[in-house]
Amino acid sequence: MPNNLASINEAFSTFEVHESKVRSYCRDFPVKIRHAKGSKIHSVDQQVYVDFFAGAGALNYGHNCEPLKEKLKAYLDNDGITHSLDFYTEAKEDFIYTFQEEILHRRGMKYKVQFTGPTGTNAVEAALKLARKVTKRSNVIAFSNAFHGMSLGSLAATSNPKKRQGAGVALGGVTFMPYEGYLGEQVDSIDLIARMLQPGSGVEAPAAFLIETIQGEGGLRCVSARWLQRLQALAHEHGALLIIDDIQSGCGRSGRFFSFEGMGVTPDIVCLSKSLSGYGLPFSMNLINPDHDVWEPGEHNGTFRGNNLAFVTAKAAIDTFWSAPAFERELQQKIVYLHGRLKALAERSSEYIPEARFLGRGFMCGIDVGSGEVASNISQEAFRAGLIVETCGVHGQVVKLLPALTIEYEVLVQGLDMLAAAFEQVIGIARYSEEKAA
Ligand code: PLP
Repeated sequence: MPNNLASINEAFSTFEVHESKVRSYCRDFPVKIRHAKGSKIHSVDQQVYVDFFAGAGALNYGHNCEPLKEKLKAYLDNDGITHSLDFYTEAKEDFIYTFQEEILHRRGMKYKVQFTGPTGTNAVEAALKLARKVTKRSNVIAFSNAFHGMSLGSLAATSNPKKRQGAGVALGGVTFMPYEGYLGEQVDSIDLIARMLQPGSGVEAPAAFLIETIQGEGGLRCVSARWLQRLQALAHEHGALLIIDDIQSGCGRSGRFFSFEGMGVTPDIVCLSKSLSGYGLPFSMNLINPDHDVWEPGEHNGTFRGNNLAFVTAKAAIDTFWSAPAFERELQQKIVYLHGRLKALAERSSEYIPEARFLGRGFMCGIDVGSGEVASNISQEAFRAGLIVETCGVHGQVVKLLPALTIEYEVLVQGLDMLAAAFEQVIGIARYSEEKAA
């Protein structure tokens, strides 16, 4: 790994000269990658990194997952169709059938599927359009610290001021309300939202409530089942739809296939993307309550809706992992271990950083260290030691872990040891400066 700025500049000059300044993750993790397998990333200069980032949640089964790759290779070898707009294809039929049987039917869920453009933000755009069309209303309720994507419709429902600034136009059609706990544990934000929907508040009747059950970019806050049930009741009382954005928290990230599973709600629309293909291939889909499928043909078109290669790997991911009961059981055991280690680390850190605490659910969790600078230093220190772990939250104050659900125990342990050492190093520096100042 290059260890000084001059060599970094030289190693990355092609990108620095020719690629737009908009690039971001590569600035925090300046490494030129050659290949990746499972939860390990290999750089061109022979460094090996443990991956606790998993493509921002797009690689729930790790890099180049073998059973998925085998199916993909066989499909390509047979000249299976790659691009087909929304023509009927065998690969699409096989995926739809498997998803309906193995994911929806097993959970007693009834939805139609809509293949949107391949990005998460396009799935959110489609969900918002559909909710507005169904209800003939324009206002949407989104929540504090929400992230739903970077195209204008979903950006309007994203709260981060820096991201919103990039729009260059007024972002409208959305009213923000407080997420559970945003106003402190003592304030019941559902009561407040209910009041704000009363005539006279000035808030327009909403088409939908759009929510993440675990806030991915916004800082790993979660909603409780009770809060979510009350939100759904409120939405329906006001003739609005409940849209759950499960783009980051879905496909097993929470420990179950859907993040809202077992929470006693039936969303009207569910947005899925990121790990849906299971292989890091671009692929998004909305689940729609059949009563709300009021689209006219072609009303949400796009050249890349439904990616046949992704249909193949998505089906293989379901067959390999979700149809095997042992997978969820083993995942639960790993979650217990991961949370135990993180809670202990948060506890130790809180001696020096009183705000330090564990946040999140399932394999989407981390530690709030109360400051973007400290979190970034920890992430950088971990990177130097060979671990890729990002930060999130409006100030970047949360060290956020998204390991692959399939990570081997020894790699999980190795990564957590590196993370603990990075905390020790950074907090040790804080302790040292404290002692010096005293
Ligand atoms: N919704 C959520 C909850 C996300 O976390 C993201 C991306 O991080 C998106 C939407 C947007 O997805 P994409 O980046 O694929 O457009």
